[in-house]
Amino acid sequence: MTQRLYYDDVYMKEFDAAVLDCRQADGCWEIIPDCSAFFPEGGGQNGDRGKLSDIKTGVTAEVLDTRECGDDVILVCSAPIEKGSKVHGVLDWEYRFDRMQNHSGEHIVSGLIHTRFGYNNVGFHMSSDRMTIDLDGEITEDELLDIEKRANEIVWENTAIRTDTYTEEEAESIEFRSKKELHGEIRVVSIPGSDVCACCGTHVSRTGEIGSIRIISHERFRGGIRMELMCGRWAYEYMTQLFRQNHEVSTLLSSKMPQIAPAVRKLMEDQNQLKGRIIGFYYDQIERKADELAQKGDVLIFADNYTPVLVQKLTARVMEKTSFKVFSFAGNDEEGYKYAVGQTDGDLKEFVKDMNSQLSGRGGGRPFFLQGSVSSYRESIVKYFSEKVDGIIIDTV
Ligand SMILES: [Zn+2]
Repeated sequence: MTQRLYYDDVYMKEFDAAVLDCRQADGCWEIIPDCSAFFPEGGGQNGDRGKLSDIKTGVTAEVLDTRECGDDVILVCSAPIEKGSKVHGVLDWEYRFDRMQNHSGEHIVSGLIHTRFGYNNVGFHMSSDRMTIDLDGEITEDELLDIEKRANEIVWENTAIRTDTYTEEEAESIEFRSKKELHGEIRVVSIPGSDVCACCGTHVSRTGEIGSIRIISHERFRGGIRMELMCGRWAYEYMTQLFRQNHEVSTLLSSKMPQIAPAVRKLMEDQNQLKGRIIGFYYDQIERKADELAQKGDVLIFADNYTPVLVQKLTARVMEKTSFKVFSFAGNDEEGYKYAVGQTDGDLKEFVKDMNSQLSGRGGGRPFFLQGSVSSYRESIVKYFSEKVDGIIIDTV
């Protein structure tokens, strides 16, 4: 049995213990100490990490994870330490404190939501830099912003967080949130003004230590919502990253940071106008070419800078002005060519089949209008058409 030092003093960063057992497991060693300040995985909170040293020999093992099995706390270590040895444990405090800040922040947010909307936290997960909460009901963006604001007010109030232990009978008369049916001793974590919840995790002792609470995103999930949350250092680092990025964007736009959104909107409007003018330019070019080629004969047109959509438009417009065959190609020798070919009331299916086989192409469509691409050189395309279509006009736009 391991004595849980983290329940006596949640801020204990170092401790001495004796090794009760040490056994080999999947590429690591499981060490059971007689007492532990390392918190085992539980209640959605990750197991602690750190170092464990043999006081006599100085041999040090990395504590990669901490788990619980019945009354024992199991330290998952990188090296063995002999049974009976006296050891000194040192927690990776930044890792643990991050999780304390986030776990306490999660209680505040879940508690506020439960009180206001009656929804339950039905899934809680912590990753390396954020956590997710699944709720069994939907909340709007504005309501979430309001919850986030109230949660941060509770942080500023620096309220004391209390942990009490009750028997099952005592617990019957207390109202608290719980994810499951509980038996035996029940730990209840209370944050006045926001939450009372059964929990086996480690928490900061005053809300001010959480620093900041941020709801990063939310999406519909299984009839409710899943939201991403960051507290403390995680929130600080994420906000710093966003601040730097916004600063860079504001410099690029020569705009003050609070005015970035209108500046980007203006940029997009300008871009759309420009796009419209470019498309207008291409359409005029297509119209002129269609008039020029009206009833002239079968034609092969190279339109180097055209997109596949513009190539189709070119072929279609020329076809409206001529009863001859129209073959349009856009691209270059390095990347290949896109084509659109057609003839009003014609059938070019067999022709295109042969062209694809000769020019390493693929594509298809209706008999009178087909499109695709070829991986060939311009010279080969010209040679193919000169041989296959008598008197073909070769042109460019
Ligand atoms: Zn909890």
